[in-house]
Order: sequence, then C-alpha cells, then structure tokens
Amino acid sequence: MSIKNEAARRRTFAIISHPDAGKTTLTEKLLMYAGAIHIAGSVKARKASRHATSDWMEIEKQRGISVASSVMQMEYRDCVINLLDTPGHQDFSEDTYRVLTAVDAALMVIDAANGVEAQTLRLLEVCRARNTPILTFVNKMDREVQPPLDLIDEIERTLGMDAIPFTWPIGMGRQFHGVFDLRKKGMRVFKPGADRVDSQDELITALNDPSVQARFGASLDEAQQEIELIEGATPDFDHDEFLAGHQTPVFFGSAINNFGVREVLDALVDLAPPPESRQAMQREVLPDEQKFSGVVFKIQANMNPAHRDRIAFLRICSGQFKRGMNLKVARSGKEIRTSTVVSFLSQRRDILEEAYPGDIIGIPNHGTLQLGDTLTEGESLQFTGLPFFAPEIFRTVEIADPLRSKQLKLGLTQLGEEGAIQVFRPHIGNTLLLGAVGILQFEVVTHRLQHEYAVAARIAPAKYQLARWVTADDPRELQRFIEANAYRIAYDAVDAPTFLASFGAEISVAEENWPKIQFHKMREHA
Ligand code: GDP
Repeated sequence: MSIKNEAARRRTFAIISHPDAGKTTLTEKLLMYAGAIHIAGSVKARKASRHATSDWMEIEKQRGISVASSVMQMEYRDCVINLLDTPGHQDFSEDTYRVLTAVDAALMVIDAANGVEAQTLRLLEVCRARNTPILTFVNKMDREVQPPLDLIDEIERTLGMDAIPFTWPIGMGRQFHGVFDLRKKGMRVFKPGADRVDSQDELITALNDPSVQARFGASLDEAQQEIELIEGATPDFDHDEFLAGHQTPVFFGSAINNFGVREVLDALVDLAPPPESRQAMQREVLPDEQKFSGVVFKIQANMNPAHRDRIAFLRICSGQFKRGMNLKVARSGKEIRTSTVVSFLSQRRDILEEAYPGDIIGIPNHGTLQLGDTLTEGESLQFTGLPFFAPEIFRTVEIADPLRSKQLKLGLTQLGEEGAIQVFRPHIGNTLLLGAVGILQFEVVTHRLQHEYAVAARIAPAKYQLARWVTADDPRELQRFIEANAYRIAYDAVDAPTFLASFGAEISVAEENWPKIQFHKMREHA
C-alpha cells in the first residue's frame, strides 16, 4: 500500500476525561471491537496498579507498564487506530497536555451524572487552542443522571461549540431503555451485560407502534418530545465545522455495558480526520511526502534509571519509517540509527519494521533527543507547536549538602529536558524555582534526584503561584519591563523571561500598566 493510502487509513486520537468518567472501561470495550495490534499489559492491569499505588517507588516499578500501554494500536474496519493515553489522576502532568499535540482528534468522555468536570476543561483548552476536532461520549446512562437536554446545554457552554447529538437516550438509570439513532431513525434497545456484542441488539424502527409505546411507556414519550425539540434547535451536522472544532457530535451510552460504544468507534473512523499537513518553521509538510519526518512530543525515562536511558515518543508526520534507517535530528544535526527502535507497544515485544504518518514510534536514546525535536532523512525541518504550559504550582528546592549543587543543577537540567518539571532561574538571586502542573511531578523529581543523581533535595514552598511568559514587539520595552519588575522575573530552560505572581490580580494589573507587553500562558517550543 502506498504512503498516501497508509496515511489515509490512520486515525490517531486521545481520550480526554475526568478521573472515573469511564476512560479505562471505554478503552477496554473499544479493544473488543478493534483487535489490538500492539498493546502491552492489559488496560485493567495498568489501572489497578495506578490505583493501588500512592508512593512513587511503586509507580517507578510500574513505569514499564505505563510506557507500554501509553500508545495502543488497533485495527477496525479498514483503519489503523492509534489511541494515546493521557495520564490523569495523580500522575497528571505536562505530558498529559503534550500528548494532545500528537493526535488528530479527541474523544471526550463525560460522566452523565457530573457533566463536564475540571480536569476535562483543562485538556479541552489545549484542544481548542489547536482546533482539534472533538467527539463526545456521554457515559453511565444506566445510572440516575442529569437530564440529557441539560447535558447538551452544558457541553455547548463549556466547549464553546455546537453539540450535535447523533444518538438520544430513552430513559435513564433503571428506566434506561436504549438510544435512538437520529440518523438511521431507529432505536437500539438497551440490555445490561458487559460482554455482549452489539450484533445481538434488538433494533426497533416503528417507535409509534402501540406495543412499543406500551413497552417503554413515559420514557419513550419524553424522549420523543426531546428529540423533536433538539432536532428543531440544533444545526445540521457539518463535517467541516467538526474538523474546524466548531461542532462536536454527541453519543449517549454506557461503557460498562458495552452499549453505544460501537457508534463512537464508527464515528471515529467515519468522521475523525486522517493525518493532515503539519507546519514546520521552513514549510508545510504533507503526510504523503516520500521522505520521513516526525516530531518528539514526549520523553520518558526508561526502566533502568542507572543508565539514564530514555524513550522518545515520536509522532510520524510524513513518509514511511523503516527500521534501520538513518535519521537526522534537525536541532543538533546528529544522526540517529534506528535499528534499535523497538516497538515498545507490542505485547510480543517484537521489533517495529515499518510505520506511517499518524503512528507513534519509540526511540531509545541517552539524551540525544529532546522534547520538540524533529527527525528527518536529512532535510533541516523544525516542526512548531509543541507547547510548554505556564506552571500552576511552584516550589523551591533546597539541598542539605552544598557540595552537591553541581549535581543538582545537572539533574534538574536533564529532568527539565525530559519535561518532567520546569526549572526557572530568577533574574535576581539564585534560588531555582520549580514549576509543574501536577503535584506528583515534585515527588517524581525528588525521588529521581536521589536515585539517579545522588542528591538529597528537599522541596519547599515558593512565594509565587502563577507565571506568564512575557514578550514585546519592542525589545527595549521588554527590557524596561524586566528591570521594573526585576524581583518577579525568572528565566526558563531556554532563557525565555517569565513574570511571576502570587495572585491572578497581579497579572491583570501588570497587563493594564504595560499595554505593550504580551503575557502568555503557553510557550511554543522554539
Ligand atoms: P476512568 O478513571 O475514567 O478510567 O474510569 P473507569 O473506566 O475506571 O470507570 C470508573 C468507574 O465507573 C468504575 O467503577 C467503572 O466500573 C464505572 N463505570 C464505567 N462505565 C460505566 C457505566 O457505563 N455505567 C456505570 N454504572 N458505571 C460505569
């Protein structure tokens, strides 16, 4: 098959959800329909380990599993589907955000009892910034949940896009009778049971038949009124509007009962986009170009911390990957031999022979590869768009033994390169500031400093809670701002200046006082 055809049949997506909305359950069901090509460790095993562990030692042991199941590849109909895990729960970190830059679509799962929750909102912001198309699955309809019309309203408000129901629930909780397919105009009758396949489902088209009316009673009546309302009030589904991130198709179901799952999978294949062109600093790169290119969006320290080996997760953007090919790191000009690029995704641990745009490959290395790196067959290309997010939690780091400060600096620099933490150097003074978006990141850092760099570090509270990268069209204006706010300025890993604050109001005041300075919550990889 040609590169063009291989690319066209790829669908690369991530599930975004709040903890406990049903991501793990849904993933398992998706895998029931779509035979997994590559998956190591069962999804459940990973989840169990994650919940059973509160301390980082255990998490460390599980790191292998988490590397392995962070990308799942499956085949469904004629498509190859890449599902990327977005680490949530306690291990929420910047990686979670960056994974979203490697996908072409997102599936939002919400618990119908809770609506759109906090963690989902943070991830949605990233999707919206990139206009990533989003499909929505409203889960747990077998429970007493919010009225579907309210849910639709909430989705529209929080996502800022039109929600277009593709299915509509008939009843809920104990009275959940099924979903009505608004396109095919038929009802799929709900039957609880986890291992059922939907080919056994009962389908009803004659909803007005008196026997059907009698069977489902008031719920059916109510649903029919809602459907009439919703059909009158929502615009038609427009594929281009969906691709532009302006409309989200909505599906109702119950993941645990494997109900409504196939509709979502079909929608992913039919509606979600294949890999599209990507912007590099030099030019636009099309997926079906003959030459290989890809971008590193995640770095994970490997199993053996003593060797400091890492796996770089690379999203293929164009061409064909063949094992053994020589790739060039655009930033450093260094060559990478890919004979050792094992498919860490595979249950059988076999070696990855070839891969195509949309696929994710893992490249073991000892620090040659950094976040945001572009790999090509020789061309100097640098993909843009790998974001760094303003930390939401700050800490300082103290060491008992001042003689270890060199090691501390080395450790922090390397951990910073991996994206495990952001390190800021103050304009005045020399107490390094650590910034993160998830609290576990600090635990990880102290643990790894101890074990990999033999530095006993203590994490201490910091004065600041917020940071914004600052830029200005006029460099002199930026310099004036930095001097006027010297004690609040710190520089990140690439020396980009940030403005630090303890309260949101301080940022608003600075914005008012310095109209020529731009304050950014996100910085793109330079
Ligand atoms: P995750 O944290 O998003 O991965 O959520 P899980 O898939 O682990 O689900 C969280 C809990 O909700 C588990 O106890 C599931 O059994 C349960 N759950 C998932 N889907 C459904 C559903 O459709 N109905 C009901 N009643 N419970 C569900």
